[in-house]
Formats: sequence, structure tokens, C-alpha cells
Amino acid sequence: MAQADVVERYRMKCDVAVIGAGLAGLTAARDLRSRGVDVVVLEARSRPGGRVVHHVLDDGRRIQLGGEVVGLHHTAYCQLVDELGLTLESSFTQVPGRDTHVLADRTHLGDGISWLTAEEQALFEKCEAAFSELAASVDPDDPWSHPEAAALDSVSVATWLRSIGATPNVVRARSLAMLALAAESPERTSLLSDLRKEATTSSPRFYDYATWENWRVKEGSAAVPLALAGPLAPFLRYDTPVREAHVSVSGCRVIADSGEQFFCDAIISTLPAGPFRDIHITGVSADRLASLYAQRHASASKVVYVYDTSFWEANDQNGSSYYEHALIGGTWPQREGVLSALVPPERHALFESSPRATVRAELIDTLAGAFGPRSVGPQEVFIRRWGRDPWTQGYITAWRPGDVMRVGPMHGTHEPPFYVAGSDQWVCGYMEGAVRSGRNAATALLGQDPRTTRGS
Ligand SMILES: Cc1cc2nc3c(=O)[nH]c(=O)nc-3n(C[C@H](O)[C@H](O)[C@H](O)COP(=O)(O)OP(=O)(O)OC[C@H]3O[C@@H](n4cnc5c(N)ncnc54)[C@H](O)[C@@H]3O)c2cc1C
Repeated sequence: MAQADVVERYRMKCDVAVIGAGLAGLTAARDLRSRGVDVVVLEARSRPGGRVVHHVLDDGRRIQLGGEVVGLHHTAYCQLVDELGLTLESSFTQVPGRDTHVLADRTHLGDGISWLTAEEQALFEKCEAAFSELAASVDPDDPWSHPEAAALDSVSVATWLRSIGATPNVVRARSLAMLALAAESPERTSLLSDLRKEATTSSPRFYDYATWENWRVKEGSAAVPLALAGPLAPFLRYDTPVREAHVSVSGCRVIADSGEQFFCDAIISTLPAGPFRDIHITGVSADRLASLYAQRHASASKVVYVYDTSFWEANDQNGSSYYEHALIGGTWPQREGVLSALVPPERHALFESSPRATVRAELIDTLAGAFGPRSVGPQEVFIRRWGRDPWTQGYITAWRPGDVMRVGPMHGTHEPPFYVAGSDQWVCGYMEGAVRSGRNAATALLGQDPRTTRGS
């Protein structure tokens, strides 16, 4: 259908306007379309996928510059991959070889956190067991019902670890892990939010890569939004940033930056926390807006190093590395010859305020500390600055102490005819959160799920 026809059509009226063509918006639109609902998806960018995007190299390798890997318990995402005829395969967690820790005082090669002494490792495991036991007492869909919810939310993970006897090195080990994920530091992360996150798994560990990151889509993670967007093309409007949404049971109206208006019976917003705060909304209760406005993101950038081969394997290194003081928090092997890395929140200000040439040189030097001189000659280095992207303004959800209670039980719930989806509306983000919440919003809107006031 020609773009002009689409404009004409939606100026008149549609059933549902979906704001955002990331995984959540596309999944919701797909499910609604399958039930014959007339939808329009309004997207600010000129492509689908939001935080999931790739770049295709001249040699055909697809480089993932956003969301990449998924976990065992990411059932909604895995089911969608299957429905789309795409394939899941093992991720970097199956790559043999040693991890590399570039600590402030030394570089250590070994499995996991083998740089800790045996005594510290035993203490780490004891803290881990206490964390898992506590996580088992939290309902991820309703952490507010925990009898100690407010108290657990008021402390940081690190404060709690110290309260149960963790030594500085045990906290340091957790900090290094969070830096590599570019999540907020354990010093600034709500204990309840971390317990809630782990409660979605049956893992007896702190964030365990083998649980959270053991699958990837063989065709590349960006193949998922592209496969979703194909059949939705007649209903997708790119280059259409939304600036206003007016919600009413007698009819809703969405207004684009261009002034174009879209009339509909219901709205599904899949906007990340930052862009959501930038649009003007009427007709949604003050309590719900306060809950949505209380959400926040960790800010980060992604760096991808491209080589012709995975040369680090010759030294029995698996490509996973951790940096106590570099711009990046860590690396992992994305695919043959390709290393992914993230610039974590506490290093992001330095990263953004430094000259670009300096940043590039430092990023390459950093790898030499872990993988030797061969790493200073990458074919290409990609830098994707998600934190300053106006349509993301962050990276993934972050929950500081107090945030779980501040956002409250409205999290991920709907106020018909205003529905929310998007990874921010799940427990802790992730592509799983986007797909799960997209499906949840479509189901709630179709009236199949009586729990329209509680996310699942
Ligand atoms: C660097 C990076 C690495 C990641 N790694 C992983 C990983 O390995 N595994 C994993 O599971 N998750 C990962 N994630 C998280 C995951 O990619 C996201 O949580 C998920 O893709 C979000 O999907 P979404 O649809 O909720 O939001 P988004 O993808 O952000 O989609 C929202 C859409 O809304 C659009 N938009 C914004 N403002 C407006 C507006 N005013 N008007 C119209 N449209 C607007 C945006 O352009 C975007 O397309 C990563 C994210 C990043 C950035």
C-alpha cells in the first residue's frame, strides 16, 4: 500500500494506535492483527526494532548493535522466535576457554571469579545462597505483597551484602559483574528489584550467564523485529514521532510531531521511560502517570570490535573479559571474530565527554590488556550511543533503592483504553520483557484476560 493511502486511511479512524515499533509494539500489533483489529503503529525512527538493530558487514556477518542474547526462562521470546520460523542456538556461554579479569592491580585468567581466594569464594557462595533463598520469597509479578517489601527496597544490594558479612572483595566481584552488564552498580540497585529479577528464574545464583544469556537467534536478534515488521508494513508509519496522546473512553487521539492526528479507540504505549516523559498525555490518571514517570534507565553505549577470527581462543581465552577501570565494563564473544562490549552507567559521562578519537584509541588499548597485541588491529569498531539516542534515552531499566515502591503495583498494568507494553513494563527489561508485555497488552485489550490491572 502506498504511504499516501496509509495516511488517508488513518486520518479517518482505526481501532488501536500502537506507539513504538520495537519488539513490544510489533508483537502487540501482530497479535491484534491476527484477530482482525485495525491497528496503526507509529514509530519515530525510519526502521523497526528500536533497541534491537544490526549492521551487515561486507563479508555478510551481521553485527548486533543492541539486544543480542536471551535466557532459558525467556519463554515468550523463544516462542515468538519459533512462530516466526527463526532458530535458536547456543550463545557465548558455551564457548570453551578462560575468562579474563583485568583488575586494578593485576590481570587474571581463569574460570569465573577464580581471582578470589578460596576463603572469599566460599563466602561469596554463602552470600549467593542467602540471596537465592530471599529471592524465592519474592513474587516477581507482585513484589509489593512481600511482608518486608519496603525494607527490602530501601537498601542497596551492596549494603545488604555487607550486612550479611560480605567482604570488600565479595562486593567487588558483584560490582565487576554488574559493570560488564552495564547495569547500575550494586551500590545503587534496590535489593528488592534484584530479588524480583532473580525470582523469574530458578537459578540458585546471582545473575548467572548460563541462565540469562545462553541462547541467541541464529539469524541474528535483529531478524526478529524485521520478521515481525514485514507483514505489518501496511500498518506501520515510520518517521512519525508522537508528541501527544489524548485518552478517553469516547475516543482517543494521538498527535505526531508533524501535527498529523490519529483517531482510535485505544492506545498501546511501548515507549521507554525517557521518551514517555517527553510526550504530553491527557486522560490517564495522575497515579498512573506518577508510576510511569518514576521509572528510569541505566544509561549505556554498546561497542562492537570486529576481527577476522576469534584469535583469543588460541590462548585458551573465551572472549569474556571484565575491566575494573576501563571505559567498557567487559566483553563477550558475539560470533566468530566479533566481540561485544558495553560502556556502563558510571563510566558513561567520561565516555560521552571525551574526544571521539581518544575514546576509540582507549577502547582498542583496553583490549590489548586482556587479549594481547593482536587485538590492537580490529577491522572495525562500532560504537552505538544508546544513552544519548532521543528515542531510547538509556539502555535498560534501572531500579535504585526505593524505586520498586515508588513505581508501585501499577507497574506493567493497564488503564483501558490506555495500555502499556515495552520491556520497561516487565520485571527487569530484556527482549523477553518486550515480547511478553506486548502480548499481554494485546490480550488485555482483546478482553481475553480479566487481569487488565495486573501485568503477567
Ligand atoms: C546495547 C543494548 C544491549 C542489549 N542487550 C540485550 C540482550 O542481550 N538481551 C536482551 O534480552 N535484551 C537486551 N537489551 C534490551 C532489549 O534490547 C530491550 O529491552 C528491548 O529490545 C526493548 O524493546 P521495546 O519494544 O520495549 O522498546 P524499544 O526497542 O526501545 O522500542 C520502543 C520504540 O519506540 C520508539 N519511540 C520512542 N519515542 C517515540 C515517540 N515519541 N514516538 C514514536 N516512537 C517513539 C523508538 O524509536 C523504538 O522503536 C539490550 C539493549 C541495548 C540498548
